[in-house]
Amino acid sequence: MTDHKPWCWEATPSGPDWIFIAHVSPASAADLAQAAAAVVPQGYAFCPRDAAPCRYHQQVCSYVTFVDTSNVEAYRMNLRGDATQKNIWIYNIIEVHRDVIEIECGYGGRGEEYNRAETAWLLAVLTTPGIVLRDWKVVAGGEGYDYKTIREGSGIDDLRRYIT
Ligand SMILES: [Zn+2]
Repeated sequence: MTDHKPWCWEATPSGPDWIFIAHVSPASAADLAQAAAAVVPQGYAFCPRDAAPCRYHQQVCSYVTFVDTSNVEAYRMNLRGDATQKNIWIYNIIEVHRDVIEIECGYGGRGEEYNRAETAWLLAVLTTPGIVLRDWKVVAGGEGYDYKTIREGSGIDDLRRYIT
């Protein structure tokens, strides 16, 4: 198995949050939901979540969501709107809805082994037959810092080159 750099390798001096955003072709969306749910990244747990109105797509979206295992309870409580729950600061979340994949590491997330698991998951999902990656980008910022694009590219070959 080829070793890859973690997707956020170039984002590490920036932040505090690191985000990976990718779009697949609209025709790939159904396959994406299936492929995304098929493999749970190492260190993560699947978080069932009801379909909900989505600001990004301006309609109700179904989600496939994974959260790092130490934050699963906090995340579920936040979904339930439990006001006694404190904010989640350091976390890793993967979210798929329609044609979008988002990976977010709050305050850099929980460590490089998580980023490697995310990258392995990403490659497995994006190389599933029927899924066409259109564009992707690595963004860093948040908590008062401007979001800046660290790198952007198109297609799976471009992404593979970036993390090789
Ligand atoms: Zn959506």
